[in-house]
Amino acid sequence: MNRIPFNRPYLTGAESGYMATAMSGGTLEGDGPFTARASALLKEMIGTGAALLTTSCSHALDMTGLLLRLSPGDEVIMPSFTFPSTANAYAVRGAVPVFVDSRPDTLNLDERLIEEEITERTKAVVVVHYAGVACDMDAIMKLAGRYGLAVVEDNAHGLGGTYYGRPLGSIGALATQSFHSTKNVHCGEGGALVVNQEDLVEPAEIIREKGTNRTQYYRGTIDKYHWVDLGSSYLPSELLAAFLTAQLERFGEIQERRLQVWDAYHERLADWAAESGVVQPTVPDGCRQPAHIYYLLLPDAENREAFRAHLAERGVQATPHYQPLHSAPAGLRYGRTAVGGCPVTERAADQVVRLPLYTGLTEADVDEVVEAITSYRVQPAEVVTV
Ligand SMILES: *Cc1c(COP(=O)(O)O)cnc(C)c1O
Repeated sequence: MNRIPFNRPYLTGAESGYMATAMSGGTLEGDGPFTARASALLKEMIGTGAALLTTSCSHALDMTGLLLRLSPGDEVIMPSFTFPSTANAYAVRGAVPVFVDSRPDTLNLDERLIEEEITERTKAVVVVHYAGVACDMDAIMKLAGRYGLAVVEDNAHGLGGTYYGRPLGSIGALATQSFHSTKNVHCGEGGALVVNQEDLVEPAEIIREKGTNRTQYYRGTIDKYHWVDLGSSYLPSELLAAFLTAQLERFGEIQERRLQVWDAYHERLADWAAESGVVQPTVPDGCRQPAHIYYLLLPDAENREAFRAHLAERGVQATPHYQPLHSAPAGLRYGRTAVGGCPVTERAADQVVRLPLYTGLTEADVDEVVEAITSYRVQPAEVVTV
């Protein structure tokens, strides 16, 4: 058993009281008072046009696929190094995910490789701020503006992160958040669609309410609601919104502890990493990262697996991350790969290992993790046996 798991979902203590309040209040379906509270908190954090709670980040991404009015054959540029939901959202609309490689330093979509993949069918660029470290948004927004492309931020990692002072999730026309229990704040399963472009707010409300204008009906601006667009039921129940409200209200202290752990790893592993040829995360100038992930890049797959086994023997769980989408079975079927392939992504898939990082991690736990890591000796690949 792992004494120190990779993640342990944090509970603030206020969740059950808020859920009990929701139950006794009589509104259990979505868009009740807790949904309003959680949305307002999110809106305050991101400083945006609207933040609509959804049942997951995957569903928020699906909503962006509908909002962008994609037709079969349209193309959406995105990194190969991401979660499958980023691509699914557009592939289900018949659009083609175009997989572009990552930068070797941040593992984010490489902004220098985007332009040559733009065709007449390109409609959007989807960025993922890996580990909450911002993509080069100045370059990407400029390029997208020049070609008339929408920018979507899959901001599942980035809540609380900033780019030259601007909150991640506030830069693209649309952004998506995740409240899955592996994320910094959570409600088990949940998400949000952030709408930064004013003329997309009402269409987003309609798509989220089964393609009806029920939201306007509730506001009293119309007297009957109708089926007016495509959509589905993307809104979470009040029980989940109540849970999430408790979490968002404590965002500051959740982040404080996570940032302490991130900084401790960064500082205390620096010498060992430098001696071992292990690479620590890069946070470029102008980026503030929200301590969603602390990862290391081991020299190769053999060392990564030997390192994970070494930690597991000491009760510490460390996990790999994304497997490339461009070479995944569904990626091959539905996507297209950029001209130069995705060699950085393929290497990162073999090298990345994520360390335990959660709010309840104690000082003694951090000591143990650091001790387990710094007692690992990197070997030439051919010598490593796992
Ligand atoms: C977690 C994650 C998702 C999916 O989030 P869900 O809320 O589980 O649907 C999508 N994209 C990225 C980058 C993620 O990390």
